[in-house]
Amino acid sequence: PDELKLLIRTVPDFPNAGIQFRDITTLIGNGRGLAATVQMLAEAAQAAGAAGIAGMEARGFIFGAAVAVQLELPFIPIRKPGKLPIATIGVDYALEYGSDRLEIDPDAIEEGDNVVIVDDLIATGGTAEAAAKLLRMAGANVEQSLFVIDLPDLGGARLLEDNGVSVFSIMQFE
Ligand code: IMP
Repeated sequence: PDELKLLIRTVPDFPNAGIQFRDITTLIGNGRGLAATVQMLAEAAQAAGAAGIAGMEARGFIFGAAVAVQLELPFIPIRKPGKLPIATIGVDYALEYGSDRLEIDPDAIEEGDNVVIVDDLIATGGTAEAAAKLLRMAGANVEQSLFVIDLPDLGGARLLEDNGVSVFSIMQFE
């Protein structure tokens, strides 16, 4: 994890002044770093007894799909609104400024499937909380989430644990 942390690029004042953006582009641009990251996430997913992997558009697709392939599990894309060509189910959630929405194919999940959430980073936890709610609406059992990066000061991990979802992260930044 310490070596992987060195592969994260920190960009000051993106997308707004005062924000330190943690950029995984440099991590996935390193083949060994990407493989080691996926391996760690896959081990955690397997330990959680995953029957399916759900990832949030767009960076959650990179890690989530790789984990799903490694474990030969189905991948469930959690999409931004208006992207799926079918009738979807969706959840609206609040952002710091405004709101956003996540959607999935309601037929993507078998009732009671143990689905593990994967994303690049957890900050306030709002996105992952909405993802868990949506997956549960579709019938999934959601008990575990996996992130490359946690920003613990923003309280996201606590929010998810309060919602009955355990949080695993490879690295943390203040
Ligand atoms: P949250 O909903 O506040 O937990 O924010 C997490 C979502 O915003 C994830 O989908 C991340 O990809 C994205 N995000 C927030 N902050 C950063 C960052 O510093 N680097 C990369 N992605 C971020």
